[in-house]
Amino acid sequence: MSAAENGRAIRVMTAAELKDRIRRGNPPAFGEVDAVTCGTFGVMSGTMAVLSFQAAEAGVFEKAVSVTINGVPAAVGPCPNENNGFIDLIVLGTSVSKKNEKYGGGHLFKDLVSRRKTEAEIQTSSGFLTKELTLDEMNTARLIVTRGSFKNYSAFANAAASPVLTIFSVLPLQGNCAEITVSGCGEINPAQNDPSLRHHRPGTRVLVNGAEGVLLGTGTRSSNEKPNLSAAADMFCMDPDLMGGFVTSKGAECLTSFATVIPVSDEETFAALQITDAGIPLPVMDVSSRRPVSDTVYADVWQGTDLEITVLKEKCVRCEECVASRTCPAGALETPFMISKNCVSCLTCTVSCESGVYSANGGTVLIDGKNAPIHLRQSDRRRGEKAASLLKSKIESGEWVI
Ligand code: SF4
Ligand code: SF4
Repeated sequence: MSAAENGRAIRVMTAAELKDRIRRGNPPAFGEVDAVTCGTFGVMSGTMAVLSFQAAEAGVFEKAVSVTINGVPAAVGPCPNENNGFIDLIVLGTSVSKKNEKYGGGHLFKDLVSRRKTEAEIQTSSGFLTKELTLDEMNTARLIVTRGSFKNYSAFANAAASPVLTIFSVLPLQGNCAEITVSGCGEINPAQNDPSLRHHRPGTRVLVNGAEGVLLGTGTRSSNEKPNLSAAADMFCMDPDLMGGFVTSKGAECLTSFATVIPVSDEETFAALQITDAGIPLPVMDVSSRRPVSDTVYADVWQGTDLEITVLKEKCVRCEECVASRTCPAGALETPFMISKNCVSCLTCTVSCESGVYSANGGTVLIDGKNAPIHLRQSDRRRGEKAASLLKSKIESGEWVI
């Protein structure tokens, strides 16, 4: 399918545009749209990078033994690169810097894609060397997502009496199901719109962090009921705004995005695309026992809620230490009330700053007759939509042939 299909422009909608039409009671009929682009952005722990670069002239060292980049430990190999000065590495998105516990593999990947200088510290079999390094000095830099773009997530609450620290929280998750943490982009998610993955086969082209990549298949722990995707893409063309690092109360995590296109090839495909947030179950589990405590749908997360944070800087009382800055998981608040473009609208600052400088309606979930507020979103719907819009524009311009 090309940009000009049968002599006419190909008709592409993003999933967000399609769902808005459905909600407004004006859905396109089958045959009125040729393709729908989907997207998702959020914490995807199963992301790693394969990096390779020349660290020294041939013969300077026999083999690298251990390597960190910006303090983030890497696994050396699998190729040994004996005496040739090259180093091959695998860096996990969840590796934590030895120099800064709030900096991990996800932050490093974003810094590399942003063309920032990084520092490699290399222990070799015969000594130690350091090397300043940018992405463009690498001969290979590829991200591999071993598990991402989950169709179904669970929301989490803490049913115990005391707060707990978990990978699903930034601040301690308060007890007695007093608050909720959520993940997933709901109705715009690729697998949500193609639940049997008929259009997400191994070899399908996808955008990973805005760069063209390829689906490798389903990811680890994928099942028919809860599918997720595995993909690979080179880092050189990635968009730093569609990726990054995130720090939960258990350590550094990796933010990753996917965008895929679903050709509306038959009525079964078209029927699957009709799903909206109101029809997507979101079970609420106790974070420790993993037993269900409630049930909701993604409409409670993404419909009628605020996708961005409002800042009222006049409310700032200039605390001795700005707790909002200290706890922002995306490093978007280096200065109080000055939110940078790193913000992923996770809601943490709306809770951590007790002076009300930051506000957003994050929605609520009913548990045992009480409304528990959503206090953390580990996915950013705006960026999921941005990834899907980017793919739509590539198709419409003819750069991407379906
Ligand atoms: S926590 Fe809130 S009130 Fe205190 S310095 Fe930070 S932004 Fe200002
Ligand atoms: S919503 Fe607040 S805490 Fe979350 S990333 Fe944005 S600025 Fe940081």
